[in-house]
Amino acid sequence: MAAGIDVCLSCFNGGCPGTPNNHAHQHAMKSGHHLTVNIRRVRKESDERPAKLTKLEIVEEPENDQYEFETFVRCWGCSGARVDNVPEDVQRVVHAVLHAVEASKGSEIKAWAEEVTACSHFDGLTQAPAADFSSEALHQCSMCDKRDNLWMCLSCGHVGCGRKQYDGSGGNNHAIAHFEQTGHRVSVKLGTITPEGTADAYCYACDDNKLNPHLAQHLQVFGINVAAQQKTEKSIAELQLEHNLKFDFSMTTADGTQLQPVAGPGLTGLRNLGNSCYLASVMQCVFGIDRFRDRYFPSAADHFLTCSQLHPAKCMLCQLHKLANGLWSGRYAVLETENGETCHQRGISPAHFKAMVARDHPEFASMRQQDAFEFLQHLNKQIDIAERPVEGGALNPTSVFDFTTEERLQCTKCSRVR
Ligand SMILES: [Zn+2]
Ligand SMILES: [Zn+2]
Ligand SMILES: [Zn+2]
Ligand SMILES: [Zn+2]
Ligand SMILES: [Zn+2]
Ligand SMILES: [Zn+2]
Ligand SMILES: [Zn+2]
Repeated sequence: MAAGIDVCLSCFNGGCPGTPNNHAHQHAMKSGHHLTVNIRRVRKESDERPAKLTKLEIVEEPENDQYEFETFVRCWGCSGARVDNVPEDVQRVVHAVLHAVEASKGSEIKAWAEEVTACSHFDGLTQAPAADFSSEALHQCSMCDKRDNLWMCLSCGHVGCGRKQYDGSGGNNHAIAHFEQTGHRVSVKLGTITPEGTADAYCYACDDNKLNPHLAQHLQVFGINVAAQQKTEKSIAELQLEHNLKFDFSMTTADGTQLQPVAGPGLTGLRNLGNSCYLASVMQCVFGIDRFRDRYFPSAADHFLTCSQLHPAKCMLCQLHKLANGLWSGRYAVLETENGETCHQRGISPAHFKAMVARDHPEFASMRQQDAFEFLQHLNKQIDIAERPVEGGALNPTSVFDFTTEERLQCTKCSRVR
């Protein structure tokens, strides 16, 4: 039986329970956070996995549909025993953990959303709910029977459906029609409003997605309390990210022959996190160098035990050790067979590593920057900083890239150098 993963209910650190590492227990001992929720996914009975990838194509990310999630709360103060009567406030935390946006996706979305700027059309808005406005009628377009992709006018509360897409999907253009009739410029997408006060906003005057700095205030006029909202629809940023993640790469070589599935220590694949192939190639190359592997792979378990940072997600060395272990242990490079055919390993997702290494970098933290060489330089700088306090930097593997240059001025007649 798979052991699943334990998420700390105090700080949301994720750790594996049970043998061989029991990082969940390690975290509890270090932090004194005793309660965790164990989350285990179980493959659903009706298992229809997609056909093997043979060409460049767009595929659905089927993972969440394939599995069911089983959870229970446990207490590490009671040697990891299952807690049976979970108090209601703890149940609420568990519920929030299970419904949280995946950390990596959240940061990708944020990075993307940062490009959306505010415009002056949200300032000093004149708002007057129309006579027929009702907060009970927000679930349907006021001009047709569309019930999704609905936009509410922030001037009068009119609810209209989104634009018709070229393929005939989408809405019936009723939101934009309202702008054309009334000149009411700004609207918010229903179902994207979060308790944190964000939502997809659109300005028809600028004809673009915009940031609405006064969202909570604007919605209050219509009796909508932002803090009580639950997001139900995908925001544009999420749809964009999903689209990016759907690109999977061809498993064929340049001359069209199928790549042979490989597996084993040092042959672990890195999954695409959305335009992250530059990172995957650099990390595979770097960990192919002995100095890097020898620095981070053998000492991984020791580092996790002795690291003074409570949250591995915030420690560059933890992340390097973890990635080294992922790539070199061979534990995660296992071939699966399906219908008697060997298929490619699933590989590992270096999501925490990426979040850590790119945390302060406006380009790499988003999905925009994809330059492998610049990333290698950035990585070296990050490793230098992380390694400096360790034995005075003596273990720093980036020293393999050090070189010195010499300039010579030589006379071609007498060959003397000065
Ligand atoms: Zn914790
Ligand atoms: Zn672990
Ligand atoms: Zn206990
Ligand atoms: Zn409509
Ligand atoms: Zn209006
Ligand atoms: Zn505008
Ligand atoms: Zn660490």
